[in-house]
Amino acid sequence: MSSPVPSAQRSANRARVVRALRERGAQSRRALAEIGLSRSTVKSVIEELLDDGTIMEVSDADRRIGTGRPPTLVGLKGDLGVAVGIEIANGIVRAAVCDTAQQLLSHDAVPMDDHTPPEATLKTAGTLVGHMLDRLGLGRDRVLGVGVAMPGPIQRNTGVNGRATTLKPWVNVNPYATASDAFRLPLVVGNDANFAALAETTWGVARGMRDIAYVYTASGIGVGFILGGALYVGANGTAGELGHTTIDENGEVCQCGGRGCLNTLANADSITQKLWRSHRDRLSIADVIKMAEMGDVGCRRVIADAGRHIGLAAANMYNLLDPELIVLGGNLAPAGELLLAPLRESMARRAIHAGDVLPPVVVGALDEHTVVVLGAAAAVLRDTERFPLPGKKQ
Ligand SMILES: [Zn+2]
Repeated sequence: MSSPVPSAQRSANRARVVRALRERGAQSRRALAEIGLSRSTVKSVIEELLDDGTIMEVSDADRRIGTGRPPTLVGLKGDLGVAVGIEIANGIVRAAVCDTAQQLLSHDAVPMDDHTPPEATLKTAGTLVGHMLDRLGLGRDRVLGVGVAMPGPIQRNTGVNGRATTLKPWVNVNPYATASDAFRLPLVVGNDANFAALAETTWGVARGMRDIAYVYTASGIGVGFILGGALYVGANGTAGELGHTTIDENGEVCQCGGRGCLNTLANADSITQKLWRSHRDRLSIADVIKMAEMGDVGCRRVIADAGRHIGLAAANMYNLLDPELIVLGGNLAPAGELLLAPLRESMARRAIHAGDVLPPVVVGALDEHTVVVLGAAAAVLRDTERFPLPGKKQ
């Protein structure tokens, strides 16, 4: 039967719907009509994609209103391929495998010495992923691509990890070239905070939002910006280095060479070091948070101080970019309101629209140990250009 719509146009429409489902996850038919196609076009494309097994209907219990039936959405089927996420962090390498229906199939981790050379780290990561794929019964041909997340800015033009990265063996290394050699699969390399922001917009508290700032606290403090629905990395790829914004002009010298950066006042190391004189044990940040929750005054004080410093930086960020939501994730997130209450107060004092229009500041929904590696997989799942689906299922 001949179609009234030329085939080139039909495949372009089909590509737009698939792209929207990859970028935003399962959608209602009504939401899909907002991507710029007519309702009738969306309807016929959906029928075609349902018929050929590219998409399926899913119910969305999260969006259930009252006791009624949850609305029916359409989303990509899970058997079109998998995305691999890898996180290279201080002391650990993590990996995750997600399918095209955005389901997490498996995740795993191995401890890693911080001085391990990049090639050896990637070899370990490759072995870890190989074992996970074997356990899932998946061949390498099923992998759409690999997302690799790491701390610190990655310069956009050169692909090189800058001196501000906290992984010293990776300074001045091109992680893209090194990882391409190791994996021989389509690849994207990105900053941990940026990928964590993608994870929270794909699965977490910022799901479906267009303008968010995700404050990721790890060895340093970085921000992943989703602006206008897309990850914003800046001209050189170094956007969001909130940890290296100046809080105290006369403060301590930072790892980056600057003075009084936020990282010198509010990252995990600086918080724990403030307790060396008062608390006999060398506490980890998790210990400090636990003791603060149990009422330790010193621990509560240093967490609140960190919150105030982050709040100052967040106010400057808010004044410049006006996000609709600020999400806190990473190793300070378990402190919850002990950190967030002083953070909000400090932010409200300095933000231009102090009062009722400030964006909510909340703790992320995803676990601090999986948010980055999930985001690395999301970077693959969402990128239609770099990681096309096999065959005609575009
Ligand atoms: Zn710095």
